[in-house]
Amino acid sequence: MKCKSCKKPAVYLNPTLCKNHFLSYIEKKVFGTISKYKLLKPSDKIIIAASGGKDSLTLLNILSKKFKVNCIAVDEGIDNYRESTLKTLKAFCRKRKIPLKIVSFKKEFGGKLDAFIFPKQKPCAVCGTLRRYLMNKHSKKFDKICTGHNLDDESQSVLMNLIKPNTSLNARGGPITGLSSVEGFTQKIKPLYFLKEKEIMTYAFLNNLLDEYIECPNAVLSYRAKVRDLLNDYEEKHSGTKKNIIEFFLRNKPKISRNILQEEIHRCKKCGEPSKGEVCSACIIVGK
Ligand code: SF4
Ligand code: ZN
Repeated sequence: MKCKSCKKPAVYLNPTLCKNHFLSYIEKKVFGTISKYKLLKPSDKIIIAASGGKDSLTLLNILSKKFKVNCIAVDEGIDNYRESTLKTLKAFCRKRKIPLKIVSFKKEFGGKLDAFIFPKQKPCAVCGTLRRYLMNKHSKKFDKICTGHNLDDESQSVLMNLIKPNTSLNARGGPITGLSSVEGFTQKIKPLYFLKEKEIMTYAFLNNLLDEYIECPNAVLSYRAKVRDLLNDYEEKHSGTKKNIIEFFLRNKPKISRNILQEEIHRCKKCGEPSKGEVCSACIIVGK
């Protein structure tokens, strides 16, 4: 197959592009999302929430071309996984002179992730809450937290929240969250929102951003993994399914967000961080 722009051998199909045209297609798509959804202003102080996986390295690689970025990572203490991704992340940040801060469950909560999981409880639910808490807590002096969520992640989230059902969680969806006006929350943006996982994987490997793909050993246990497999299967048979879900969601997001923004946000009486109840979810988990 030949690149549709220059006739060199293609490295990617749909769209059929050679290496150079594929890389610039991806970067244009990301900067296009930033500009269309007004994700960033030139004066914004931004911090990238990174893990050292393909998504966050792609995000760091692209954003650092045009913006001054800082980086934050959370070490949950997951054996046979986190140490390796953090090593890749540290090397990347050192090479690009990007300031990196690593916060750990052990230091912040007194134990690794496993210490907070009850028997039969799914690790991701606990981990996600504690990770989001730390990211927010340590990003206060920044205007925006950028995350590496992609089209696959976001279409899975929409479907998961519909099936559960958990409509209020859908307010976190979309390329930008609506919580900038709430004191104590740093606004989150997702510049990779319209990129497919496969596009990101290809971009990361073509740029030598990582040597191997490692998945968290807990991921297979999650509810998300089931929805992911279901959606991948459906996408293969009906191409465009994930994009259709996202587009449907974005058309309806204003209604969903209006409801969630009316919820009152308090200060957690234990740690002082923003919380929907008297005590925040992180303090409830750690307290148990
Ligand atoms: Fe945490 Fe689950 Fe992500 Fe692993 S897959 S880092 S347990 S949220
Ligand atoms: Zn708290």
